[in-house]
Amino acid sequence: MSSSITPGPVAKLIEEFGRLPGIGPKTASRLTFFMLRSPREQAIALAEAILEVKERVTLCSVCFNTTESDPCAICASDSRDRSQICVVQEPLDILAVERTGEYKGLYHVLHGAISPVDGIGPERLRIKELQARVQNDVAAGEGGEVILATNHDIPGNATAMFIYRALLPLGVKITRIVSGLPVGGDLEYADEVTLGRAMTGRREM
Ligand SMILES: [Zn+2]
Repeated sequence: MSSSITPGPVAKLIEEFGRLPGIGPKTASRLTFFMLRSPREQAIALAEAILEVKERVTLCSVCFNTTESDPCAICASDSRDRSQICVVQEPLDILAVERTGEYKGLYHVLHGAISPVDGIGPERLRIKELQARVQNDVAAGEGGEVILATNHDIPGNATAMFIYRALLPLGVKITRIVSGLPVGGDLEYADEVTLGRAMTGRREM
């Protein structure tokens, strides 16, 4: 039996690493044996960092960015242009856009993209919240521009199209960042210049 060869705690850690996105069984084993060989302090630092994220970091109730205070620093800032909302898939995409220095508006984090093959429908994303947010802005006479900065791949484009249709009746300006991003179109991996150009060259849908 393999359970007698692999100690229980080792098998358990392999299983837990294996649940993480993008981690297959091979990588899960490699990470586990790396942790096994590394100093105790490193293992504790990792475990504490994971716990701290769960205990101290929450989602902003306005834009759904990760934050230690609600609303987040960007939503609470009075130096941001409140007439613009840049819609991104992941919190890390905000860092990518911020690095370009080309954008001073607000954000909305969807936490994913529509992907029927992965069983991710629009209801799993923060699209209803975006709709309500834009609706409130419009009602308050503050409706401006919604910039769809989802990735330029199939899920990213499908998500942009879905949001476009959902927001169209609200009468706001809806733009899409231009392509020209690296293969796969992940914002996260775009360099500042390319992403800056994609932002400034955005087109009305
Ligand atoms: Zn926020």
